[in-house]
Amino acid sequence: MLNIALFGPPGAGKGTQSEFLIKKYKLYYISTGDILRKEITQKTELGLQAKSIIEAGGLAPDEIIVQIIEKTIKENPDSKGFLFDGFPRTYIQAYILEGLMIKLNTSLSCLISLEVDEEESVKRLLIRGETSGRKDDNEIVIRNRLKEYDDKTRPVLQFYKERGIYISVNGKQKIEKVSQDIDAIVQNELSKRLFNIVLFGYPGSGRGSQGKALAKKYDLEFVATGPMLDQEIKEQTAIGKQIKSLYESGQLVPDQLVVQLIEKKLEKSKGVKGFIFKGFPRTLVQSYILDGLLKKHGSSISMVIDIEVPTLELIRRLDARSKTDSCMPYDTSTAKIVKRLQEHETKTVPVIEKYNQLHGITKIDGHSHFDEVFKLVSKEVENGMKSMR
Ligand code: AMP
Repeated sequence: MLNIALFGPPGAGKGTQSEFLIKKYKLYYISTGDILRKEITQKTELGLQAKSIIEAGGLAPDEIIVQIIEKTIKENPDSKGFLFDGFPRTYIQAYILEGLMIKLNTSLSCLISLEVDEEESVKRLLIRGETSGRKDDNEIVIRNRLKEYDDKTRPVLQFYKERGIYISVNGKQKIEKVSQDIDAIVQNELSKRLFNIVLFGYPGSGRGSQGKALAKKYDLEFVATGPMLDQEIKEQTAIGKQIKSLYESGQLVPDQLVVQLIEKKLEKSKGVKGFIFKGFPRTLVQSYILDGLLKKHGSSISMVIDIEVPTLELIRRLDARSKTDSCMPYDTSTAKIVKRLQEHETKTVPVIEKYNQLHGITKIDGHSHFDEVFKLVSKEVENGMKSMR
């Protein structure tokens, strides 16, 4: 999610710049001022409680604001992100926002502060007052609103400076220039995000070779648990020794070992653009583990791809591979091949179904040869990357 708060004194241009951001980034817009005005027009309980305060230029009580925000966020759980205009306006509201974001498993990406001086604010609001019909756009109330801003709202900046997500923009520039500056900030935020792909497919579907080629083309880190386990054995690490003895006694490698390896890989890969996971998660338990690991790194799954190949073609490919040099230890007999296909069916297909509900799955027709499939899968990845920007 991309969550942005637009900050600045009344008249800084938050409403105008919000229009630009919503259009470009399809964020869900939350203006506490607009919501309060609607409550007042509809004469609701909340509206009646806030009316006289707002008309005098004061701030509505935090209790009212938290109800409004929580309700709006809860009603829009599938949004790509939220754009907050006029919130948070007090220190308490900054804590409220932090708590609400945690509840949604996300966080505020940045707070963009539009800087304009008091006289400019007054000038703009008086002009707006000629047409806005807002009772609070007259000079006495405007001065009071600005005083409230100085006393209660400006100190909120410190909260975000401490968290390192405060960014200021000169709000006195032309509207288009302010939009440009804001856009550059958002683009920079987006470029920090990892693009994470989970790649599924039955054994023999070509997911390994497609995954490796995708990683190379899009500068992503390829994470395949099988080769990682082999590497540990080769390097004779402590984990490698454990894995070896498990292999020798024909046992499965337990999740806690696999998790350690993935964790190590995520930690070592600082500065990459994202990951392609292949062969993990294989089970529902592992899918929860992956969610947790990515979350710990402030990230999440961006795209899930499933390469589909008819069963007879899979068997034909695996059988052919078993007769070549690239034969894997698990390709050596029909019984082993069937067992792997069956494992995928019973343990991994439920994971794909879960992801389909959560993120939607991109299905790729994998029956033709490598280049053809690679073209299809590349196109989907590019679309996925574009929609994240
Ligand atoms: P705005 O449309 O953002 O300029 O807000 C208009 C008025 O609504 C403000 O002057 C406040 O009285 C009230 N208001 C809007 N948002 C908040 C908030 N987050 N906390 C308290 N009062 C608010």
